[in-house]
Amino acid sequence: MTTFSELGLAPDILRALDEMGYATPTPIQEQVIPLALQGGDILGAAQTGTGKTAAFALPLIQRLLPFANNGTSPAKHPIRALILTPTRELAIQVEEAVQAYTKHVPLRSLVVYGGVNINTQIPILKTGVEILVATPGRLLDHVQNKTLMLTQVNTLVLDEADRMLDMGFMPDLKRIVALLPTQRVNMMFSATFPEEIRKLADSILNNPTFIEVARNETAVTVTQVVHPVHHERKRQLLAHLIKSRDLRQVLVFTGTKLGCNRLANELNKAGIHADAIHGDKTQQERIKALDAFKAGTIRVLVATDVAARGIDIEALPYVVNYDLPHNAEDYVHRIGRTGRAGALGEAISLVSESETRYLRDIEKLIGSTIEPTIVPGFEPGAADVPAFQSRPPRADRPERSSDRPATEHRAHRAKSAASRDALFDAPYEPSSTVPPVESTPALVRPGPKRQVAALFRSPVKSDSAGQ
Ligand code: AMP
Repeated sequence: MTTFSELGLAPDILRALDEMGYATPTPIQEQVIPLALQGGDILGAAQTGTGKTAAFALPLIQRLLPFANNGTSPAKHPIRALILTPTRELAIQVEEAVQAYTKHVPLRSLVVYGGVNINTQIPILKTGVEILVATPGRLLDHVQNKTLMLTQVNTLVLDEADRMLDMGFMPDLKRIVALLPTQRVNMMFSATFPEEIRKLADSILNNPTFIEVARNETAVTVTQVVHPVHHERKRQLLAHLIKSRDLRQVLVFTGTKLGCNRLANELNKAGIHADAIHGDKTQQERIKALDAFKAGTIRVLVATDVAARGIDIEALPYVVNYDLPHNAEDYVHRIGRTGRAGALGEAISLVSESETRYLRDIEKLIGSTIEPTIVPGFEPGAADVPAFQSRPPRADRPERSSDRPATEHRAHRAKSAASRDALFDAPYEPSSTVPPVESTPALVRPGPKRQVAALFRSPVKSDSAGQ
């Protein structure tokens, strides 16, 4: 097995890695570090969790060592390496990693991101920093204010480039790149490679080496679970899973900011300590929630994709897709939050009937099918009436709204709405019709060929499908 010292890293960097408990390089580190030390451009296909931050940061730091300890004059500390990330959270985490890796070398780093007072960043910039981690918008604010100079940058890193594209940063990126010296080393990382990302790579990178870490290199450590469930019962199922399986540190993804707030409130009402992070929360609120989640004082962090981007939590055990992402690539990003650097993780998706098409897209992208697992008491198609109310046997009710006479339609809709409201108002209470659960619930696994969509049409009896 290769060691970090065999990769050619300097003793002061090795010491920091040793103190951080990094014993051996991850596959992407093994491939990227030697190449980047030689100054070659790199295009990396890697998700968060593969160790990509160290893969680009360690060689970057080593190549800056000749510039370290150049005296105290700020002019001796121009920005030499620029690392761009799509979100503030990721920027903060990358800079924390850089701080740790540079613990024993006199190189300075700083992170600048939007949403906080720009004036607090200026005094530090004035003292000079060699490594700057930034989100594109705030970087350009500083450029415009002439509070930083990019004329000495010799290394550019674009982290999570596909997300920068999704977030509309492409024009900002182009403006930034135009400000940099043309002689420089470039490293670009992306989990996915749509056409625009390939074009961006062509325009920025110079004869790059393409380095890919097989998707399943991380995925092997992530168990993927799909629970088909009626959409109105998702909140109850989530609370049920968390309580019955005693899940802690659960990162839950929702599709909207509104849904994000609402779910966090509902979980709190159900006695599960939760907080929400999304784009409408202030930076302080987001940091506070993230810190509380990391420290274990809140059990569930409900997040939108943008807010959760790049969140790095040591050994995060559970990711829940409360809403399936409409974009299959977001699924890969989401589940990349868990099972990092060899730790075990579980990605749980709650899939309603209308979401089965997104599941198909996901399965196509990841190249495998995820076998649906029905949780007893939460059988799909069996929740038109909340489980804690008595309800007629399934056969007595119309299968689908289209089978129902038009006169009944409105009445049914009103009843459904009332049921839905009742669901949200009701405290979490496992229904008497739900079988009692042990600490790990007995899960029902339908036959391997069973399609998730079909499960919504032919009700599956938990006791007849085999344990
Ligand atoms: P990243 O993919 O860069 O976000 O890294 C994911 C996590 O793995 C972070 O918590 C890193 O500190 C950790 N990590 C990165 N490289 C190693 C390594 N070689 N050994 C152990 N942990 C690592």
